[in-house]
Amino acid sequence: MTRHGRPLRPQVLVIFGASGDLTRRKLLPALYHLSLEGLLPPCRVIGYARTEMDDEGFRRHARQAVETFGRGPLDEERWRDLASHLRYVAGDLDQPGAMDHLVRHVEEAARDLGPSAERFFYAATPPSVYADIARRLGETGLAEGARIVVEKPFGWDLDSSRELNAELRRVFDDSQVFRIDHFMGKETVQNILALRFSNGLFEPVWNRRYIDHVQITVAEDIGIEGRGSFYEQTGALRDMVQGHLLQVLTFVAMEPPVAFDPDRLGDEKVKVLRAAHACDPARAVFGQYEGYRGEEGVDPRSSVETFVALELWVENWRWAGIPFFLRTGKRLARRTSEVTLVFREVPYNLFREAGVEGLLRDHLTIRIAPDEGVTVAINAKRPGPDFDLGRVTLDFDYEPGSRSELLDAYELLLLEAMQGDHTLFLRQDGVERAWELLAPLLEHPPPVQPYAPGSWGPPAAEAMIAPHRWHVHGGWPPGARTG
Ligand code: NDP
Repeated sequence: MTRHGRPLRPQVLVIFGASGDLTRRKLLPALYHLSLEGLLPPCRVIGYARTEMDDEGFRRHARQAVETFGRGPLDEERWRDLASHLRYVAGDLDQPGAMDHLVRHVEEAARDLGPSAERFFYAATPPSVYADIARRLGETGLAEGARIVVEKPFGWDLDSSRELNAELRRVFDDSQVFRIDHFMGKETVQNILALRFSNGLFEPVWNRRYIDHVQITVAEDIGIEGRGSFYEQTGALRDMVQGHLLQVLTFVAMEPPVAFDPDRLGDEKVKVLRAAHACDPARAVFGQYEGYRGEEGVDPRSSVETFVALELWVENWRWAGIPFFLRTGKRLARRTSEVTLVFREVPYNLFREAGVEGLLRDHLTIRIAPDEGVTVAINAKRPGPDFDLGRVTLDFDYEPGSRSELLDAYELLLLEAMQGDHTLFLRQDGVERAWELLAPLLEHPPPVQPYAPGSWGPPAAEAMIAPHRWHVHGGWPPGARTG
């Protein structure tokens, strides 16, 4: 049963790229946890990749993945049950007849599961292979009535994104394609919608009249983790901004959808991106952490960016004149993903006139990860005989109890795709518009500036947002005022 209240139909799930990093880190642990939580429907999982392995070898690989990247100790009984449904087919999608064995396995699995079984494909290969996957699924007839999840990046720019979509659309109609951005599966990202559209408190002030600017930060403390050759072709702009940051921006900036359904929500998200102006390279900062060029698989003269900060303007009635500052990077001081809305000063500040110290601007911070929750920071009188102001925060935290119930983003999104619900997946028109917004930066990238690992990126990123300061969860950086 899912949040839709309907039982899921049995699934024949084929993972293309079964020997890869994403499958190991995310997909196999997600399937195990869904099975542990009793949420996985009857299922046969067939892994497919070039590496030679038999079923037993894949099960060992999967067990190791779950033990390494899963939560808590392995439940042997659950694991044995899931493992008994794992199969593996070795093949090279570049070669003719690549799917001959797979067809047989899929048919066998479907027979086992009965007539209501659905086919579900997950493209977890490099994007260069997606077109082959689609073409071959089309040729063998496996695509018919099936669903396919496609991983980011959806192309490298506007043209390649359109080409990829055209390849997919030759075989699948749009209702069969699920473009995944795992940020959309995070409880706290969805909670932006709950916060805004289920409360009367916030929405009236959620606009240019009361908000001074918005900051979105997705900071990682880790580096590229041995994925040098992948990162060299991608960089932070394509890897993080094109998807995650712009998706979060749409949730923060969208108008209330007329219904909570995929089409209406998708319409509003795309409207935000259409209202946004393409990025100005003069208002963007690219950085690269010191030591990146020495990593395996990285060109010693690489100019690939591991940090991006940029300004974006959403010119509509709600946001005209209000900058959105987006920032992401690797090897930064702390892992944190958050959205901060900084409010305007009060129209007439009687405390400042009276020489009262300590006044800061109010802000509301949505903590996406870690410490999922919401903080509202306001001024209040310090206790005591003097009239001084201090900072107090109103904090909402996901309680420790409910934290353990937070589904991992991949768990939730797998369920949603099996259910055929597109609400949390991306639409092609939105993907294309996101590429259009970033096109000036792809064509004329700002020079890459070095930054020290463990810092908050190049100093130019601070200068870009001045007179404001970047918010860091837990308070503004020491000595900072909010402008
Ligand atoms: P990897 O390089 O680790 O894995 C790629 C997988 O694809 C391997 O299993 C590889 O098989 C298989 N493969 C490649 N070419 C072929 C082919 N011609 N025929 C059959 N199988 C093939 O990549 P990742 O797992 O890191 O990434 C996969 C996708 O997911 C990418 O699109 C990536 O952008 C996306 N993604 C990854 C994330 C991550 O955390 N890793 C996060 C978000 C998205 P073999 O090695 O056996 O040849």
